[in-house]
Amino acid sequence: MTALKTAVLKPGKDKAVRNKHHWIFSGAVARLPDFEDGDILAVQSSRGEFLGHAYFNRRCSIIGRMLSFDHTAGPEAVRRNLTRAATLRRSFFDDATDAYRLVNAEGDGLPGLIVDRYGDVVVIQIATLGMDRLKPVLIECLDQIIPSRAVYEKSSQPSRREEGLPDFEGPVRGDPPAEVRIRENGIPFLVDVARSQKTGFFLDQREMRKMVRWLSRGKRVLNCFSYTGGFSVYALLGGAGRVVSVDVSEPALDLARKNLALNGFDCPAGDFVQADIFSFIRGVEPHAFDLIILDPPAFAKKKSDVVQACRGYKDLNRLALSLLPAGGLLLTFSCSHFVDEPLFQTVLFQAAAEAGRRVRILQRHHQSFDHPLNIFHPETEYLKGFLLYVD
Ligand code: SAH
Repeated sequence: MTALKTAVLKPGKDKAVRNKHHWIFSGAVARLPDFEDGDILAVQSSRGEFLGHAYFNRRCSIIGRMLSFDHTAGPEAVRRNLTRAATLRRSFFDDATDAYRLVNAEGDGLPGLIVDRYGDVVVIQIATLGMDRLKPVLIECLDQIIPSRAVYEKSSQPSRREEGLPDFEGPVRGDPPAEVRIRENGIPFLVDVARSQKTGFFLDQREMRKMVRWLSRGKRVLNCFSYTGGFSVYALLGGAGRVVSVDVSEPALDLARKNLALNGFDCPAGDFVQADIFSFIRGVEPHAFDLIILDPPAFAKKKSDVVQACRGYKDLNRLALSLLPAGGLLLTFSCSHFVDEPLFQTVLFQAAAEAGRRVRILQRHHQSFDHPLNIFHPETEYLKGFLLYVD
């Protein structure tokens, strides 16, 4: 094996890497060898101590991303961390759930990589050039660790532009069916991997869906941003009196109808509404629903969006709170990384004040446990939710 070339950090700029944070900012690097973007380099402190391995891309402000903090070389680190990721999931899931996030980027020590399992189809999402170069190793390891009928790639995040990578969506090995049938907590769903949003299904809400099932008995439920009907199916299984699903995407609503039918429920036309929530919710009769779910897409995609995003969250939550009868419940989420939990709670406080309602927090929620958060690298946190009681 040829020795790896070495990147040297500036004095005092090695603290984050020593603390097992995965990112190296360009300002922290004193010297780079002659290398090609995407290559794996050894990383050294200014005093010559070996710190691990990272892949590098000069085009990005996060110039390096650590793959290991020891002598394990890049491809071996991929194998080791994939095995660890699979062990964690196997310890939590049995046959009742065959759809889960297998790799949650830095949360599993694999920067630039998301892997989701949908039954016998594996979906990968690659965000960086360094991880893209490791794709052959990745696919080989995935095939050994989690044998599947097809591996499908959905890589079209805006961050790829900065990396100098074109978008890519398509089969990497095998061909997935148009609709993959999965099981979650024993409940069947159809997932359209190729035409879906994200990788196909919002796996991060699995625990919340279970809670919605438990909360819904006898309730009239309004599922806003319903996507393919995840919360709607659970609410009906939990004995909801009626569930109205609203989404701007007609294909998402089509699949929501199929998912209800798959679980033995009727799909009355009026219970599926294709609309923009912001205008729809203004036309809802007060007290028409006992439980409102708000699970919008990320309003703040970058830091500079935060003020505008908070305005959106406040309006939406104020309108929902105003509609609820005494004893009503609002389950509300933000998946914007840049709006953290204390800020989201402040926005909900303002919404409650403006709605003139007495509001209590019953529970706080986060992404499911197949989306682990690396304690040394908290930046992968994004989803927060509040269950609010209104009287
Ligand atoms: N709760 C869902 C996931 C929601 S994803 C689940 O658990 O599966 C966000 C959804 O919001 C997407 O389906 C998208 O089509 C929809 N959406 C985005 N903006 C919208 C808007 N302004 N009005 C209605 N739906 C919207």
